Order: sequence, then structure tokens, then C-alpha cells
Amino acid sequence: MDMRYTTFRGGIVGAELRLPDRPSRLRKRILVTGGAGFLGSHLCERLIGDDHVVVALDSFQTGVPDNLAHLADSGRLKVVQHDIVEPLPDTLPRFDEIYNLACPASPVHYQSDPVKTLSTCSTGVLNVLKRAERDGARLLQASTSEVYGDPEIHPQHETYWGNVNPIGPRACYDEGKRFAEALMTDYARSTGIELRIARIFNTYGPRMRPDDGRVVSNFAVQALRGDDITVYGDGSQTRSFCFVGDLVDGLVGLMEASEIDRPVNLGNPDEIAVSTLASRIVQLANSTSRIVYRPLPTDDPRQRRPDIGLARMLLGWEPRVDRDAGLRVTIDYFARRIGRVQRAPTLLAPLGQA
Ligand code: NAD
Ligand code: UDP
Repeated sequence: MDMRYTTFRGGIVGAELRLPDRPSRLRKRILVTGGAGFLGSHLCERLIGDDHVVVALDSFQTGVPDNLAHLADSGRLKVVQHDIVEPLPDTLPRFDEIYNLACPASPVHYQSDPVKTLSTCSTGVLNVLKRAERDGARLLQASTSEVYGDPEIHPQHETYWGNVNPIGPRACYDEGKRFAEALMTDYARSTGIELRIARIFNTYGPRMRPDDGRVVSNFAVQALRGDDITVYGDGSQTRSFCFVGDLVDGLVGLMEASEIDRPVNLGNPDEIAVSTLASRIVQLANSTSRIVYRPLPTDDPRQRRPDIGLARMLLGWEPRVDRDAGLRVTIDYFARRIGRVQRAPTLLAPLGQA
């Protein structure tokens, strides 16, 4: 089968996509919205590595086509510029699976245009749902630990309903993602589409933008440049950081699992205070940066750690990459990206080893 795409809106980046006449029985056509973003680009890479054919659909609000450039020669990727707030183009082929990752994830970016963030999580999600129904595709939603807000239960289990300020500066994202879960669940109940909801906890790794604004990228870039490390508040707030490769394994595992009828936490339960993370990144980058303290943003959650018992039980999944190993890979990525030679190599350990 030969599929050609017509140009629409911002156009199509990359070579024409042609499927073989007789596709492998296991090869699927998969749509990844937000495919040019941080997580999306790693997911596309993984799916192409698994021999699938992928369309990465992205508005490039925070993602960039460069994140997918290394996959251009695979012959199995098409990159389409499109905003999911608009109905998905009819020119796209029928998909077996859809991963909906389209939405800025950094507080700096999702708060820069909050109404747009809410539209992406509502109208955008409805457009993706309609497409999944039309295609009979299984749909996975990239939800978030932010649905738990500033949690009063620790660690966070999927049964916790959360503690979210509905009118604060984070609400466009937190409430947007909560609305998306509700909309998708009701849509799936009434149409029978197969739905997966991944509640993703803080994830980091190569291909985050240097100006992403999230904590790992900020600290790594500051440390490499010798700039002050900006800890917000007193740094006692905690997060639990998952390396991107582990997270992608979890997303694919969740998509492929059968009979999952509830949201599943995906993250690394290895919890750390933000001030401790700052010191560790300074050490790993062999940096002379000072740690400075800046005001804590409104509604910044005090603590966060996933209970991943459900993912372990249903998917047999758990993260494997040790935090220092993942941070070393990430610091090395930013060193190359911003053109800094580090004072000493970070002694890259094979992933998974301490
Ligand atoms: P990212 O900002 O790097 O990627 C988001 C991608 O979506 C970008 O390429 C952006 O251009 C695209 N996008 C945004 N709005 C769009 C729209 N309306 N139409 C089409 N494309 C649009 O963020 P990320 O870290 O890769 O996050 C990906 C997804 O995972 C998001 O849905 C996010 O909420 C979720 N998530 C991520 C994390 C994390 O720690 N990385 C944690 C929880 C949830
Ligand atoms: N943070 C910080 N300095 C920074 C960026 C973030 O201290 O330069 C803090 C932030 O206040 C929060 C934590 O790091 O407590 C994680 O922030 P991030 O934006 O990465 O993710 P989220 O708050 O959405 O979990």
C-alpha cells in the first residue's frame, strides 16, 4: 500500500511515507500527538524501533521537528504540523493506536497561554477521541501526577482524588488534565473505544529544551554554564524523577496491555528534595555554581511520589534507570546541546547501574 499525504496548514515535514504492500502482521500504524516534544520524540523512536509506522502530529508549540530528524531516514515516520484544537485532518490514514501527548508540560510553558492549554485538554482531546472512535483505534492519554494537585496523601495511589486549586495558576494544566480524564472516560463508556490513561510523574532526560523551565533542565544548564542554581522556596519540596527511557517502556506496556479499565501511575518512586537535587547536579556536572533561593511559585506541590504497585501488578513494569545514571546522561546531553565542554567527564555509567 502506498500512502501519500497532501499538504495542509503548516505542511508536512519529512519524506513521503510508503507502507509495504504486505505489512507485517505485527506492524501497526500509530499516531503520536505531541510527537515532536520531549516524551513524544522518544516514544516515536521506540515505536519505529519496534517496526511500526508512525505519524507524529504536532503544532510545534514547545516541540521542534529537530527532535525527530534522526528518524527521517527510517522511512516509517511522517511528521505533520497540526494543532489538535482543530479537527484532525481527513488526509491521515486509519490508525491502530493513538498516543495523545499533545500539551505543554512545563509550568512555564503551560501557564504562558493558559486558555490555550485548557483548549488543548478539552476541544483537542475531543478531536482525538473522535478520531479514535472513527478508526477503532486504542487510545492512550498522557495524563499527569498533577491530577493529584498538592497531595495530602503520600505516596499517591490511583485511588486518591487529589487536592487541586481550580482557579490557581496551575489550574489550566491540572484541571485541564482532570477534565481530559473525565471526558475520555465518559466517551469510552458511551462508545466502547479502548482507553488507557497514564498518570505520568516527573520525567527527565535528553531532548528537554534548555529553556524548558522544568527543574532538571534548569539545574543542568545552570550548572554547566556556571550560573546560579535557582532553588524555588527553601528546596524542601520533593519530586520523584523518572528517566525518559523507563517512562516510554511504561507507556508502550500500558498501551499493549489488555483489559485495563483505570488510570495507571507511571513514574519512579525514588523521591528527592529539590535542594538535594540541586547539590547533586552541581556535583555531577563538576560545576562551581552557587545555589540561590528564589520565591516558591503559587500552589507548588509540597511532595510527590508515585505508588506504582498497580503498574507493577498489571504491566510487570518498574523503572530501571538509577537517578545518578540518568542525570549523567542528561547533563552530557545538555553539555553537547549548549556547546559546553565540561571540566571533567561525568564518567558515563551504563544505564541501570549505580
Ligand atoms: P513537551 O512540551 O516537550 O511536549 C508536548 C508536545 O505537544 C510539544 O511537541 C508541543 O509542541 C505539542 N503540543 C502542545 N499543544 C499542542 C496542540 N494543541 N496540538 C498539537 N501539538 C501540541 O512536553 P513533554 O514533557 O514531552 O510532555 C508530553 C505529554 O506528557 C504532555 O501531555 C504532558 O502533559 C505529559 N506529561 C509529561 C510529564 C513529564 O514529566 N515530562 C509528566 C506528566 C505528564
Ligand atoms: N524548581 C526549582 N527551580 C527551578 C525550577 C523548578 O526549584 O529552576 C522547583 C519547582 O518549584 C518545583 C520542582 O522544582 O518545586 C519541580 O518543578 P518542575 O517545574 O520541574 O515540575 P512540577 O512543579 O510540575 O512538578
